Amino acid sequence: MGRPLLVRLPNWLGDLVQAWPVVQAAGLDRSRPALFLGPASFAALVGPRFASSEYISWSRARRFASAGEIRRRRPGTALLLTDSLSSAILTALAGIPERIGYAAEFRDLLLTRRVSRGIPSRAAPRVQEYLHLARAAGLEVEETLPSIEALQEDRDAAASLRRQAGIEGEPFAVLAPGATFGAAKRWEPAKFAALAAALHAREGARSVLVGAKEDSEPAREVARIAGACTVDLVGATDLPALVGLLDASILVASNDSGVMHLAAALRKPTVGVFGSTSPVWSAALAPWVRSLYAAYPCSPCFRRTCPIGYGCLRSIDATQAIGAAVELLGTARLPTSAS
Ligand code: SF4
Repeated sequence: MGRPLLVRLPNWLGDLVQAWPVVQAAGLDRSRPALFLGPASFAALVGPRFASSEYISWSRARRFASAGEIRRRRPGTALLLTDSLSSAILTALAGIPERIGYAAEFRDLLLTRRVSRGIPSRAAPRVQEYLHLARAAGLEVEETLPSIEALQEDRDAAASLRRQAGIEGEPFAVLAPGATFGAAKRWEPAKFAALAAALHAREGARSVLVGAKEDSEPAREVARIAGACTVDLVGATDLPALVGLLDASILVASNDSGVMHLAAALRKPTVGVFGSTSPVWSAALAPWVRSLYAAYPCSPCFRRTCPIGYGCLRSIDATQAIGAAVELLGTARLPTSAS
């Protein structure tokens, strides 16, 4: 067994899911143990799925505090899935002899192997960018879509929340109307509300609203407009409960965010709405996903807020999301050859 491979995970949930084939290859590699380094909240998603790995929590506030903890595990190689200078400094401080990442942000001298992207950043799917980097680090990663299975503890956590919310045994959809990144990724609450009303009328399904605490304002607005066909669980889900809820739902609709990627990785019918970001770079590329995107002349701009009125988001109509949802639900109901 070789010295551990440290994998510095991305800081955003959506990026973590897009890097999942790499996380899996590292976590299941029998030639060397994996040591994952990332936000504390991701430990509950990563840790239980890779029993022989270790997880070290990282926080922006104490970005170099884990150097000693890492050094004690003696990793031989660090694979940096972030482009930050601080991740290169931390792994150098921890004395990891081989440090591999994309050249970026003045950190070249700290990397022992600087990987060239080959094509400009954001010009190819992000999943491919992570695969390219991992292969440069000698990991054997399959060309595959991110795929995550819900665990029994995820289902139990979701079942408990559903009991408390009074939606046990009911069909339900999940809507994620927030986006921590900024307003340029947030579709209007009235349109999410129209989708919730349509799902209730057509499928008899209420819509569970999820997101981080910071998403409570758009969620409250969706609930105010759509009324009793929504259940607001924003701020109430940790990652296991979120995975369990998404897994039990009939459909997920989300802005371009972690929820969208997680739902796609769980193979749920998923409608994703794009604003300032690019579906070329960050769409979930699966047959059970529909990405709604208005190709504005200024898009993608990758801004957090819009200086000219959010036209790219406003021009996406609720009927497009309803149409995509109906189509996906129809496909999901078709019998498969195995059934
Ligand atoms: S500048 Fe253009 S692409 Fe960017 S958020 Fe505004 S309308 Fe959308």
